[in-house]
Amino acid sequence: MPPMLRIATRSADLGDGMLVRRALPSRQQRMVGAWCFLDHAGPVDFPPGRGMHVGAHPHIGLQTFTWLLEGEVLHRDSLGNEQIIRPGQVNLMTAGRGVVHTEDSLTDGSRLHAAQLWIALPPAMQDCPPDFAHHPTLPQWQTQGATVTLLAGDYGAHSAPTRLHSPLLGLDIASPAAATIDLDLRPDFEYALLPLTGSVRLDDESVPADELAYLGHGRDKLRLGLAADSKILLLGSQPFAEPVLMWWNFVGYDKATIATAQRQWESGDARFGPVGDGRAPRLAAPPLPWPGY
Ligand code: MN
Repeated sequence: MPPMLRIATRSADLGDGMLVRRALPSRQQRMVGAWCFLDHAGPVDFPPGRGMHVGAHPHIGLQTFTWLLEGEVLHRDSLGNEQIIRPGQVNLMTAGRGVVHTEDSLTDGSRLHAAQLWIALPPAMQDCPPDFAHHPTLPQWQTQGATVTLLAGDYGAHSAPTRLHSPLLGLDIASPAAATIDLDLRPDFEYALLPLTGSVRLDDESVPADELAYLGHGRDKLRLGLAADSKILLLGSQPFAEPVLMWWNFVGYDKATIATAQRQWESGDARFGPVGDGRAPRLAAPPLPWPGY
C-alpha cells in the first residue's frame, strides 16, 4: 500500500478579501490525475453588504467544477448562461478553447460553503467548443452511516451525469455521527482526500479539515473513520499522461498557447466575449512569467 502524503492547504485571496483554502496544485502534489485545482471556500458568514464577487475572467483548456454546500451563487458566462447554483448541485463549465465567467453571491451578507475544482482537458479536447452544464441532482445513497454523493465518474452501480473527458471519480462523503466506512478503490487510479469539515482517520492517522491526504495509486480498498459531523471529498483519477502547464486561469500544454490566450484576454479579443451586459469588472492577469513569450 502506498504511503499517505499529508499536504497542508494554503490561503489564497480570490480578490476583495474572499479567502479560500487551496489544496491543489501544491508544491508536493500538482495534480490528482486530471484534477488539477481544488479550492475550499468557507464555510463563511459574510457581514452585511459583503459577499463573493469574482469578476469576469477567462479560462482555457480545463473544466471548472463547482460543488455547492451552503449558500447561493450566480454563475454568468460568455455563452449567455445565467445559472443559480444551490446546495447539493454542480456547475460544470468546459472552457475548451475559451470562455469567460463571473461568480457572485446571490445575496450579500449570507453564508457560503463550496468547493471549486478544475479538471485538465486531455490534449485532444483542449480546443473543444466551450460548454456549460448545471446538474441540479446527483446520485446519492446511504452506506455504513454516511451519505455518499457521486460528483464525478462511476461508483458501484451509480454513474454521475457530469460529462468528463478522462476517467475520474469524485465522491462527497458526509456523516452526522462518527462512522467507519469501507470503500472499494481502483488500483489503477490515484486518490486524494480532503476533509471539508470534521476529520477522518485513515492508515492510523487523523487528517483534519483543510489538509489534503494524497493516497497515490495501487489501493483497492480504503477504510475511513469519520468523526461526527464530518464531510470529506474523495478524488480519484487515472494518473494524467501529459504534463500540463497552469498559469492564472489557463491550462495548456505549451507556453505559447497560454501566452497567446493571455494576450488575447488583455487586448479584448473576440475569443473571450462579454458576460451579460459586459459591465462586470474584468480581472487582470498577472504578468506572464516567461520572458520571450
Ligand atoms: Mn473561474
